[in-house]
Amino acid sequence: MLTSRLPGRVEPYKLAAHAEHLEGLVTLDDMPRLTEEIGAQQGEARVWLDFAIDPQGRREIRGHLEAELQLPCRRCLSPLAESVASDFLLGMVTSDALAADLPSTHEPVLVEDEQLNLLAVVEDELILSLPQVVYHDEADCAVSRDQLSSGAGSEASDAPTASPFEVLKHLKGKTR
Ligand SMILES: [Zn+2]
Repeated sequence: MLTSRLPGRVEPYKLAAHAEHLEGLVTLDDMPRLTEEIGAQQGEARVWLDFAIDPQGRREIRGHLEAELQLPCRRCLSPLAESVASDFLLGMVTSDALAADLPSTHEPVLVEDEQLNLLAVVEDELILSLPQVVYHDEADCAVSRDQLSSGAGSEASDAPTASPFEVLKHLKGKTR
């Protein structure tokens, strides 16, 4: 069981040169982009990372992560617990232009000033690992099958709700 925290910032070239292994926990409540995708999260992701230089001289990170997330049910929009896991292979690049040279097996990760923000890497991988669509089991879902078959439930969930921005635009338009 992991108990230590994953360091937030590392020097990945040094870690690769020494073929280091890092593992630890990353808290999920400090990930604004993940929150934007699926709402606020609690708990931690468990992360294992192996840094290496491959035979072609590429600096790479092989990683695995696991987390329990609360994803919005597509039918009733209330949260639903879902385990996600992901294996990934990252190739370090010092510029976006160099990312094009990486083989398709590697996802590019940008290293600036020999520093890498591991929390941002973990957040990216979590977002990539999200399932496209999740639903409660019918028995657990707030939108029942009766509502769905009569059309009431689906109408309610499909109806576009006015976004705060739309409302703001509207208000601004009125004051002019
Ligand atoms: Zn539901």
